[in-house]
Amino acid sequence: YVGNATTDKVDKLIDAEKRNDPLVVPSIISFTDYEKSGGFTTLSKLREGRLKTADVIEILGDSGHRGLGGAGFPHALKLNSVLSVPGPRYMAVNADESEPGTFKDRYFLNMNPYQFLEGMLIGAEIVDARSIYIFLRDEYPESAQILSECIDRLHNEKLTGEREIILRRGAGAYICGEESAMLESIEGKRALPRHKPPFPAHVGLFGRPTLINNVETLYWLPDIIRKGPDWFKEGGRHGSKGFRSFSLSGHVNKPGVYITPAGITAKELIDEFGGGMQDGHVFRAYLPGGASGGLLPASMADIPLDFGTLEKHGCFIGSAAVIVISDKDDLKMVARNLMRFFEDESCGQCTPCRAGTEKALKLMEAEQWDGDLLTELSAVMRDASICGLGQAAPNGLMSILKHFPEAVK
Ligand code: SF4
Repeated sequence: YVGNATTDKVDKLIDAEKRNDPLVVPSIISFTDYEKSGGFTTLSKLREGRLKTADVIEILGDSGHRGLGGAGFPHALKLNSVLSVPGPRYMAVNADESEPGTFKDRYFLNMNPYQFLEGMLIGAEIVDARSIYIFLRDEYPESAQILSECIDRLHNEKLTGEREIILRRGAGAYICGEESAMLESIEGKRALPRHKPPFPAHVGLFGRPTLINNVETLYWLPDIIRKGPDWFKEGGRHGSKGFRSFSLSGHVNKPGVYITPAGITAKELIDEFGGGMQDGHVFRAYLPGGASGGLLPASMADIPLDFGTLEKHGCFIGSAAVIVISDKDDLKMVARNLMRFFEDESCGQCTPCRAGTEKALKLMEAEQWDGDLLTELSAVMRDASICGLGQAAPNGLMSILKHFPEAVK
């Protein structure tokens, strides 16, 4: 269902949800079922003053919960940072899931939308956000339909209070997933990333302090607060804390979205969840974090996949999109494909990225790569680009030069 939902199918699911028909809707969790399982109790307690904002922030801090959109910023720190500036404040939810290979947020939006929405309302309550903007990628029409229906239901159930929730649909630009570009787009301007500082927590939407969270980050909030920080912490593996959803794709038997212990390794993810490699394919390499997170050889598939564990190898987990590459794939073509993507999606605002991606692609079309020149160009792009797109664009090519030099000679 997650990968193949059509609007028609979602219409049927929503109709069935209105009838609370669990037989017809085995997968989407209805309002009634969510409420019966304890849903919205945390939100109610917070709103009625039975749970204090400071206590919730302390629970989140203890749990080690971090932002799961890519940057991994500690959630409690972000909340405190937004609260340090006087209101009015806003909240913006980044649902512009567009990193190649990433499709986990769609899973949460489509399968358990009320848990995500409760997490969102908890966040808004904590920072006393005047309005909430959900910025959803336009390629998820089924999620838009589900969210609209669910938001109406929350209004009818009087769970949104005086707060307005505005669902904004993107127009297909990858750069809108960069938080400050997203804010520009919500404000009705061209999505050009802003220089930081100031950070959006202090100067965000319409110049006001803004809490920006990704969908999965918010999804975990009700569970962490209700079940306690230890429940979340103990979910990790290899020294990591919590749970993490991975979008697993490539040459595995069972690609899909998997909720796993944080810190799982690529090898464990492929074997325990992905059903192993497809017949006729030998595991050769993997992208741990979509197009941006670089590439590692299969011999390094025992590194815990978490924030801070991959950086010394020139890679990062980002939005946890693991793409598995086999001996049948042409690595040079993989690297070119990644760079072509960044060249297409560069917003063009700064030269190191706009001209750098174009130049790198030209150099990568040569039979034999000029490693020195590509390394120098990559350093300029990393050091001088305004935002993460230009800074991360050379990760794929630099990984190939480091781990598979024979492939480009
Ligand atoms: Fe735009 Fe690229 Fe510069 Fe980011 S790095 S601001 S995407 S040109």
